Amino acid sequence: MQNFKNLINGEWVAAANGATFENRNPAKMDEVIGAFPLATVEDVQQAIEAANAALPGWANLPAPNRGLILDKASRLLEARADELATALTREEGKTLAEAKGEVLRARDIFRYYAGEGWRAGGDVLPSNIPGELLYTRREPLGVVALVTPWNFPIAIPAWKMAPALAYGNTVVFKPASLVPHSAVLLLEVLIEAGLPKGVVNLVTGSGRTVGDTLVSSPRIHGVSFTGSVSVGMGIYEKAMKNLTRVQLEMGGKNPTVVLRDANIDKAVGIAVAGGFGLTGQACTATSRVIVEDAVADAFAAALTAAARNLKVGNGLEAGIQMGPAVSEDQLQTDLDYISVGQKEGAKLLVGGNGASNGGYYVQPTVFDQVEPQMRIAQEEIFGPVIGILRARDFEDALSKANDIGFGLAASVVTNDLQKAFQFANRIEAGVVKINEPTTGLALQAPFGGFKHSSANTFKEQGQAAVEFYTRTKTIYVGHG
Ligand code: NDP
Repeated sequence: MQNFKNLINGEWVAAANGATFENRNPAKMDEVIGAFPLATVEDVQQAIEAANAALPGWANLPAPNRGLILDKASRLLEARADELATALTREEGKTLAEAKGEVLRARDIFRYYAGEGWRAGGDVLPSNIPGELLYTRREPLGVVALVTPWNFPIAIPAWKMAPALAYGNTVVFKPASLVPHSAVLLLEVLIEAGLPKGVVNLVTGSGRTVGDTLVSSPRIHGVSFTGSVSVGMGIYEKAMKNLTRVQLEMGGKNPTVVLRDANIDKAVGIAVAGGFGLTGQACTATSRVIVEDAVADAFAAALTAAARNLKVGNGLEAGIQMGPAVSEDQLQTDLDYISVGQKEGAKLLVGGNGASNGGYYVQPTVFDQVEPQMRIAQEEIFGPVIGILRARDFEDALSKANDIGFGLAASVVTNDLQKAFQFANRIEAGVVKINEPTTGLALQAPFGGFKHSSANTFKEQGQAAVEFYTRTKTIYVGHG
């Protein structure tokens, strides 16, 4: 079995006490990918110190020079895309096509933020004192802790790390324990691109030890987290004790609304992509489809047929359209919710089973007759389970779509322009799609949710990232 290391101050090192943990291929439970350091508090402190020590050098490097390193990383990601995608599929389970798309997304993210090295700056403001120069200057926030989930093990770290680095911050990175190999590969790329020692540090290990130490440290100046609501809320509380800046992206229960004029085939394609793509393991995945009564029977029948036809299996094999759940726990969660849905009285149209052929497989599942108060309509499942809720009309559909504690992504399928824009204006979600799946984001556009999907502080991606990863100073230059 291969032994992997943490990266602290430019050195690949084992945990201080030598402890490790294993991770496995979710498509083949008996295949071990490697052993990774189970970092101790001492390891985390060393990583924090290394990032603090590297901060002045990195922050003072001219921003275009930082951009050149990010640009090189982008080109290396492209050169190693097939290798990284294969490793990602082995570790997380998504199909090879989905994994390749994710690696290429990371390539584009690094390319985009490489350009930021030439662009990011402050503003010159009109002064009300004659002869005075009044301007703002953006400075790096400092050392940022990036705590990430397992479902996009390359793209989510990339969309946090690239802006962090472009704007002059240094990083301590704690990936989810289910995907440490992807993290190691991403850091290999950054090192090869010429990142100076200590600028990014990797510590793998338990959320409770590594994550907790990081987010509670007064030597960390910002925490960017993506993950579950419960962990996110705990992080917020701990970070606030030091008034550390926090960004949280959390769960969703994303609706697609299908109006009576919708083309049913198109609506089904959108629901399948949003609900079953990535095995439903996306924060923006479609988990509720709210359909106007007039077309609900036709939609339910067509979605059932489409779900039945999806080919589920090992994502490394050709022709597979949906990979396994990421872990035994996630598989169990999916199956538990399916049984809760049946007990609550929803009508199971298709799926509902695991398939024990060596991996954590679950069939694409569709429930009909889901009512808004049911748990399967309110709680995030994070698996390939779509619930159909029926609605009398547009107003009823919109009200059901909004009747939820989350507000990440939402979509509507219609050719009625008036209703499409009314939906866009009145839906409580940070991302709205018209005639597109709830999943799929443009890296140049702000991303973040409302309600319990986010801390409602800072958005991620695109130009929005500059707000989180920099602090602004206002400078008044009077007469000498
Ligand atoms: P978790 O919240 O369980 O874990 C996220 C990260 O936090 C992991 O690195 C985890 O480490 C770490 N962590 C766990 N406990 C602590 C702690 N006490 N202090 C600090 N860090 C901790 O989420 P999952 O990885 O299970 O990811 C799935 C969740 O992520 C879903 O709920 C989904 O909605 C959400 N998500 C949201 C997205 C968004 O942009 N809104 C995008 C993708 C996912 P460890 O793995 O070691 O436990």
